[in-house]
Amino acid sequence: MEAQELFMNGEFIPVERGVISVRTHGFAYGTGCFEGIRGYWNEQDQQLYLFRAREHYERLLRSCKTLQISLPYTVEQLLEITVELVRRNNQRQDIYIRPVAYKNDQTIGVRLHGISDSFLITTEPFGDYVATTGLRCCVSSWRRIDDNAIPARAKVCGAYVNSALAKSEALQNGYDEAIMLTHEGHVSEGSAENIFLVLNGELVTPAPTENILLGITRDTVMELARRELGRITRERSIDRTELYNAEEIFLCGTGAQIAPVVEVDHRSVGNGQIGPISKALQDLYFEVVRGKRPEYRARWCTPVYSS
Ligand code: PMP
Repeated sequence: MEAQELFMNGEFIPVERGVISVRTHGFAYGTGCFEGIRGYWNEQDQQLYLFRAREHYERLLRSCKTLQISLPYTVEQLLEITVELVRRNNQRQDIYIRPVAYKNDQTIGVRLHGISDSFLITTEPFGDYVATTGLRCCVSSWRRIDDNAIPARAKVCGAYVNSALAKSEALQNGYDEAIMLTHEGHVSEGSAENIFLVLNGELVTPAPTENILLGITRDTVMELARRELGRITRERSIDRTELYNAEEIFLCGTGAQIAPVVEVDHRSVGNGQIGPISKALQDLYFEVVRGKRPEYRARWCTPVYSS
């Protein structure tokens, strides 16, 4: 069901009233940060589980710190507000929750300090963000923004211009998704996804210093690979040609979930089919996020409805 209400500046209000002024600082300058959290409906439990919402809000608070945005809530309060919002909207299907903290000052002048902030949360029904059945990717001609330009560790609104340039270039050239390199030419990430490779049987992903967003799905994948498949992920620099030599590649993110890549720059990944490690991790992930694995449900899934 479409949301009837959103949360804005301390209140639950009808969606139609969720408007900002054209003079808003965050709109003109991109001075905001956000999160994307998924809620998964579990038919058997008649329950909606928010996946790793705590970690998303911890990251939001870190992004706010970088942007000098003061958010007057603790992680605990943010979780309570989110649960209350979804309940009010009575959503019983897969959803996407979008908290945004931004500079709402109406003044002209680009800076971060000494101006007022706002916070809102919206929630909406959501399906697949990208196909999970095999993506065709290109290496983007757009480089990933550097930590010294706009820190990728923070999920900064304005930084998504970099992602949008790469994504549109990829789609308009007939690919499904872009893979971006750092300024040094190392593999960084997709437009809104982290990337994993299977190289010589080993699971490899770009190190945190490769201008990536430290993804919560990335962390989930590393833990599932270790605990369930007995595979340790190596975090290191990855060269472009390693993409062409990999047996398997997949992208991952809250939106993308686990999305296998079957082709990069017209070279098939492995034999061009979804590989066994990608498939095993994808299957596990879909069970875990929907709360079907009790050992992970207790730690990672926040139930919305009282049972
Ligand atoms: N990188 C970028 C640039 C992203 O936008 C996202 C999506 N939030 C990710 C990686 C994956 O992060 P997460 O798994 O925390 O959603």
